[in-house]
Amino acid sequence: MSEAPDTSQELSEVLEDLRRHLLWQEEDGGRFLQVDARLAAELRGAGLARLRAQAAKPAPSVAAQPAPAAQPPPAERPMPPRAPPPEPERPLAARAPEPPPARREAPASRLIEAPAQPRPLVGPLPGVVEGERPTLDEIRRELGDCRRCKLCDGRKNIVFGSGNPRAELVFVGEGPGADEDAQGVPFVGAAGQLLTKMIEAMGYRRDDVYICNVVKCRPPNNRNPEPDEVAACEPFLRAQLQAVRPKAIVALGKFAAQTLLRDSTPITRMRGTWREYEGIKLMPTFHPAYLLRQPAEKKKAWEDLQQVMKFFGKQPGQRG
Ligand code: URA
Repeated sequence: MSEAPDTSQELSEVLEDLRRHLLWQEEDGGRFLQVDARLAAELRGAGLARLRAQAAKPAPSVAAQPAPAAQPPPAERPMPPRAPPPEPERPLAARAPEPPPARREAPASRLIEAPAQPRPLVGPLPGVVEGERPTLDEIRRELGDCRRCKLCDGRKNIVFGSGNPRAELVFVGEGPGADEDAQGVPFVGAAGQLLTKMIEAMGYRRDDVYICNVVKCRPPNNRNPEPDEVAACEPFLRAQLQAVRPKAIVALGKFAAQTLLRDSTPITRMRGTWREYEGIKLMPTFHPAYLLRQPAEKKKAWEDLQQVMKFFGKQPGQRG
């Protein structure tokens, strides 16, 4: 790949990436994302002003949770001076080529700058008093037979999430594939079977953790979810993460990591270093579908998961 975008293909990727980041840019004094403002407006339209008036308590924030003292996240690795090896990630089928290196050096930190104060993870949901954390059931009910984006046209099932609603550890993938779409359950295909093995190798059962995706409906032909689709779905992911309130999140692959962290750094550089999402520790690692194609990379993913195990004081194969 050349050092600068010099073809119309690359230029359109740059524009697409920019468009995605603009969607994410914070507005109104850095408090709310456009996507959240949109959902808030939608929910307000559902007659929530009345509920808001009942709000008695300030919204609990996961950021207010005491961080586990034992394991401070290691410092970010310095950027290597040269472009990294070719980006491997494409969890689902044909994936768009990796952004050109010129964009990797873009000032992502400006785009992802955290607001001074932690903000609530989600606006009020129908039937939930503002300030109360919605439950997963309430979030699922609010999602309903979702028609908020065009992915609804091709889906068989909404794939909301599965597992322990009080899990200490959550895995976030990209979006359902064909098997998940057919069953309505995340990570049940080939990549899902590998994920289950990874979870068990960490000393958990699959039911001990919670598993969900950035988008809840299968993108046609397993293409990348588009920015408007992420924008429509992401508030529900955030609400899920607030409802479960895990102690750590594993972001599986480039798409989940980049979406949650608002950071376009390639997964090859992001993986293996603790980050933070809304006050929750987050470990980016490779997507299991990528590991199926590149088994030699499993070693690195296992190193990442071992850091998570260390954080929880777990030994390989140890349950509970
Ligand atoms: N890939 C994902 O990212 N999520 C799934 O649920 C299945 C495959």
